[in-house]
Amino acid sequence: MALKQHTTAKAYDLLREGHARSLSGERKYGSGVGLDRALELTGGQAPYASVLCCADSRVPPEHIFDAGLGDLFVCRNAGNILDDLALGSFEYAAAHTGCPLLVVLGHTSCGAVGAAVAAVKKPEDTESPHVDSVIQRLMPAVIATVPRNGGDMSDWVDDAARWNVERICEDALRRSAILRDLHRQGKFNVLGAMYDLETAQVSFMQTG
Ligand SMILES: [Zn+2]
Repeated sequence: MALKQHTTAKAYDLLREGHARSLSGERKYGSGVGLDRALELTGGQAPYASVLCCADSRVPPEHIFDAGLGDLFVCRNAGNILDDLALGSFEYAAAHTGCPLLVVLGHTSCGAVGAAVAAVKKPEDTESPHVDSVIQRLMPAVIATVPRNGGDMSDWVDDAARWNVERICEDALRRSAILRDLHRQGKFNVLGAMYDLETAQVSFMQTG
């Protein structure tokens, strides 16, 4: 049986419906998670969405969107950074599995973004070259959102996380000719979203 391919609009509907099920507690795990579903997928995959999200244990996209096996194509790292490995992975998903949507999912109170804010305040405190490379990737977002006179410092981390997501949505299409071409043909879109740790709610930034 051929796997069902999805349009961008249908993919967005499936994510919102899955998220609503996740919040209501009435999970059905998308297309399924058992052996039957695994066997359906032995010949290939047709995920309806790719997701770039933080490695934070509190934001697993399959749980947030109530997705099953074969539903989501996921890359995660601290700070949901779009490096070349992630971008190449999403190009593969779009070009070779027909995945019609990339969701860039940031979240509130992100520890990686918090570390970048802390590094601006105290640049002399460095933890390791590897943590530094995460922080350096997030630094443009932190600098772009530095609270102005009288601004609320407590919002800085969340403002920077949101800015990071918005910029990655632009970057994905700017950097990738494959994604840009599919976008022009109406076969692919990129969608920003923020997950609020306090409410467990996803807010999509644009509906494309
Ligand atoms: Zn995070």
